[in-house]
Amino acid sequence: MSSSTKYIFVTGGVTSSLGKGIISASLGKLLQARGFSVTIQKFDPYINIDPGTLNPYEHGECYVTDDGAETDLDLGHYERFLNVRTSRANNITTGRIYNNVITKERHGEYLGKTVQVVPHITDEIKRNIFQLGENGQYDFIITEIGGSVGDIESLPFVEAVRQVRWDLGANNAMVIHLTLIPYLKAAKELKTKPTQHSVKELLSYGIQPDILVCRTEHPLSMEIRKKLALFCNVNLNSVIEAMDADTIYDVPLLMRKEKLDERVLAKFKIHTKQEPDLDQWKAFLGKLKNPTNEVTIGLVGKYVSLPDAYKSIAESFIHAGAQNDCKVNLKWISSEEIQKDTVENIIGTLDAVLVAPGFGERGLEGKIEAIKYARENKIPFLGICLGMQCAVVEFARNVLHLEASSTELNPKTKFPVIDMMEEQKKVTTKGGTMRLGAYACKLKKGSKANSIYGETLIHERHRHRYEFNNKYLDQIEEAGLKATGLNPDSGLVEIVELKDHPWFVGVQFHPELRSTVLNPHPLFVKFVAAAMENKRS
Ligand code: GLN
Repeated sequence: MSSSTKYIFVTGGVTSSLGKGIISASLGKLLQARGFSVTIQKFDPYINIDPGTLNPYEHGECYVTDDGAETDLDLGHYERFLNVRTSRANNITTGRIYNNVITKERHGEYLGKTVQVVPHITDEIKRNIFQLGENGQYDFIITEIGGSVGDIESLPFVEAVRQVRWDLGANNAMVIHLTLIPYLKAAKELKTKPTQHSVKELLSYGIQPDILVCRTEHPLSMEIRKKLALFCNVNLNSVIEAMDADTIYDVPLLMRKEKLDERVLAKFKIHTKQEPDLDQWKAFLGKLKNPTNEVTIGLVGKYVSLPDAYKSIAESFIHAGAQNDCKVNLKWISSEEIQKDTVENIIGTLDAVLVAPGFGERGLEGKIEAIKYARENKIPFLGICLGMQCAVVEFARNVLHLEASSTELNPKTKFPVIDMMEEQKKVTTKGGTMRLGAYACKLKKGSKANSIYGETLIHERHRHRYEFNNKYLDQIEEAGLKATGLNPDSGLVEIVELKDHPWFVGVQFHPELRSTVLNPHPLFVKFVAAAMENKRS
């Protein structure tokens, strides 16, 4: 742990889903905009080792980092806001903590001792908190504690926070408590009682929050602020109002207005004259809020009833739309709705279509129909991971007239144009067993991919088991679907694009995981531009 690194813990009270991730990312942004280096870490109180095995319906998208960790979708917000990379060390679950402790126990590291929640589990949590600070790279480490205070599950984390606060003192560690101030319509009043209770709960664990961030639908009056300050033992200026925002990207500016960053710096006794430089951020917001164009893009997928399942894709369109001064209306389309007789009505009205990543067979035929329609009618198409695989299957079926499929969807297919790699076949456990994380990809000179990226060597993140089957490469390329991005080490196909089509690109990787506010992803930027072009013509 570097002596100068400051630790900020963000806890939540009253209910879940208050947006701790966005508040943490916004605070991180403000500190970063003042020239500090910041990283954000999330602790999740569930027993899964990572969210890789969780159903996206239950937990939203699984976000993958460069180093191949399957993580909580909040890490996506951290990267999108801060424009810095996170890693395995940025997301820790109860499962991982216990797994580490139990593995150590089996290796005899606690020989003779009874292994207990306190101190062994809490020490392991603290080790993971301090690990990020070890090389002194960061001025601030913001640690978000998942769940809400009072949950049985988050207790060891809360206890570890108490210890760190005690060990390091108020100049080096602080606690920000995010809470809800509900509005009672009948009484026309904001209510502070739930917050008082959740602060009491925190106090009973030995933690006095330094700052309260209050989610509210109505502005906090001075009277309410004073009441909160008095009953929760925080300074009046440390009661921070967090009003509902039109877009999550407004939150850093709202927090700036409420001086959250100033309060943090003052508590740490850090004096800086540097005002946060938010010019680029504001320029993005200006473009986002004043579009001069509008397009409708279909997102065809399996998990469309829970938009969080495609969080990063939706955010990438926000970044790319702003870049193009264009409002992107995303139309969520369940692939099961698309059939031969409905495809024209559904896909024909769109300016562009994206076929989403996914797992398993349900809705495959709908995806194939959508892609066929986009290919034949020259509608801009982007296929991501499973979407790219479906594009290859569609092409093999409808252009090469092979009874082709992916072995994920039909293990007995005669023409497995998408197949599992030999190494993958040997794997029988489930979590962390896919091709995960960033891999290099070489782009063919003069290809569309090359012109989109403006480079010939790129790195993109993966999360899949199945691959383009190179046995069919020549045949498929000859018929016009070109492999224009290849992994330089393994020769695996990473990008396919169609000749004689205005914009038809399939990528085996997940470009959406690398799009940020300050660096919108070129594939999305150019895809939106292609949708605008298609709308005009
Ligand atoms: N199910 C496919 C595979 O495992 C695609 C995965 C994805 O879209 N992320 O290869």
